[in-house]
Amino acid sequence: MKVSVTDIIDTSKDLLVLGIFQEDEDMSYEFLNTLFAKELQEALGLGVFKKTYGEVYPTKFAGLGYRRVLVLALGSKDEMSLERVRRLMSKAVSYTKIYKFESFSMNILSLIENTGRFSPEELGRASAEGLYLSNYSFKKYMSIVPENPEKDIQTVTLTWIKDKDNFLKGFEEGKIIAECTNFAKDLVNEPPMLMTPAYMEKVAEEIAENKNIKLRVLDKKDLEEKGFGAILGVSKGSEHPPKLLILEYHGSEEGPVTAIVGKGITFDTGGYNIKPTGSMETMKCDMGGAAAVMAMIKAAAALGLKKKIIGVAPVCENAISGSAYKPGDILIAYNKKSIEVTNTDAEGRLILADALAYVEEKYKPDVIIDLATLTGACVVALGSSISGIVSTNKELQDALQKAGDVSYDRVWPLPLLEEYKDSMKGTISDLKNTAATGYGAGTITAAVFLQNFVTQQKWAHIDIAGPAFLLEGKDYLQKGATGAGVRLLSYYFLRN
Ligand SMILES: [Zn+2]
Repeated sequence: MKVSVTDIIDTSKDLLVLGIFQEDEDMSYEFLNTLFAKELQEALGLGVFKKTYGEVYPTKFAGLGYRRVLVLALGSKDEMSLERVRRLMSKAVSYTKIYKFESFSMNILSLIENTGRFSPEELGRASAEGLYLSNYSFKKYMSIVPENPEKDIQTVTLTWIKDKDNFLKGFEEGKIIAECTNFAKDLVNEPPMLMTPAYMEKVAEEIAENKNIKLRVLDKKDLEEKGFGAILGVSKGSEHPPKLLILEYHGSEEGPVTAIVGKGITFDTGGYNIKPTGSMETMKCDMGGAAAVMAMIKAAAALGLKKKIIGVAPVCENAISGSAYKPGDILIAYNKKSIEVTNTDAEGRLILADALAYVEEKYKPDVIIDLATLTGACVVALGSSISGIVSTNKELQDALQKAGDVSYDRVWPLPLLEEYKDSMKGTISDLKNTAATGYGAGTITAAVFLQNFVTQQKWAHIDIAGPAFLLEGKDYLQKGATGAGVRLLSYYFLRN
C-alpha cells in the first residue's frame, strides 16, 4: 500500500472519500456542490443526510478518475478524537475492499487539521494506524479463492496542507507501530501446531538480525541447571521443550532499563484441570503477551528508540500426558520459593514467576512491565475492550494508562489491596498458585502471586486476557488476534 500526501484532493483514485462535519453543513454542501455539481447532491439524497459521527453515505456517483464517492459523517468538531480518526480510516479501507477497488483518496485529515485540536504528528500517527491495522488479514491457509476476490489496496492519497514534515514523521511512526502490531497478530493467529516454543525461537532469531538487538536463549538444559522449576513444571506434559527467550534492545546504554515480560503459553489445554469445550478453542492466543513483547522489541528498533529494553518471553505448552504436572505438585521457582499447584490451568503466573525473578536478578531493571492473557476474571470484570493493570507504582500505572488512552490500547487499574496480600499463601509450601475457591478478585490475586517474584518497586502487571483475541471484529480490529499491548507499549516508550 503506497500512501502519498497532496495539497488538493486527488480525483484520480477509484474511491473518493469525503468528510463532512456537523457544524459545517452549509459550507460542506457548498464544497461538494462546487466540486461535483448537483448530481452528487441528488445522489446523496440530501435531506436524509444526518451527519452524526459514523454515518456512511455510499454513492454511485462517478466522475473525473473516480468510480464512486463515499461521504463519511465526522460528527461534531469538539467530539473528534484520534480514535475516531483511526476508525474513519478503517471505514475508507473497508469500503474500498467492499467495492473491490485498488485505491482511494480522502480529504478528511485536512478538515480535522483545520479544527486545530491535534498536532500534525498525532494525526499522522493515528491515520497510519487506522490504515495499516485495518488493511490486515490472515488468509494464508485458505485454498479456495472466491470468484470475485477483494483486491489489495495499492495506493492511497491523503490531503494534508500545513506542516507536512511533522505529519509524515508521525505517519511513519504510526506505520511502524501498526505493522509491528500486525506482526504480533500473525504470531497469535498461526495454529499452535506451528507456533511452538522452537518456532518462537526462530521468530526471535529473525528479530535479532537488527544490529541493536541481541538474542539470548535459555533452553531446557539451561533452565534445569539454573533452577527454573516453575517453567519446567508447566511444560512437563508437552513434547515441545520450554525456552526462555530474551531479546535485549540496546538503543542506548544510558538511562533507565525497562524489562518487558510476556506470557508465552503456545497452547493452553488447562492441563489436568482441563478446559471444557467452549473455553479451549481460542487458547492458541495464550502466547499473546510474548508476541506483544517480541513485536515491541521489533518496533523499538524500527522507531530508533534511545532506550535499553529487555524483552523476555518464557515459552512453553501446557499439555496433558502421563508426565504432565498435577494438582498437588510442588514446584520450586527460580527465586527458590516453593509453590503448590492447586490448579494446573493457572500456569501463566507460574512461568511468569520464574521469568520475573530471573530478569530482575540478571538485569536489575528500573521498571518491569509484564503482559499476559492471564485470567478469565479480567474478562468478566472489564470485557474485551480494555486490559486490566495492577501496579506497585502509581506513577508507572498513570503513565501506562495515559499511553493506553492515547493509543486506544487501553488499560484500567485494579487495586493491589493490602487485604488480599495473604490470599496466595500456601499451607505446606510458601505459595499456592490459586486463591481459595470463591475468594474472588482473580485478577488481583494473580498479581498478588506475581508480586512474590518482583522486589522491584516500579512494576506493572497488565492482564490482556480480554482484548488479545476477539470473537467478533470491529473497525480496525479483526476477528482473532489484535496484537494487544504493542500500541500501548509503543506509546509508553515514545512518551516516557
Ligand atoms: Zn491456563
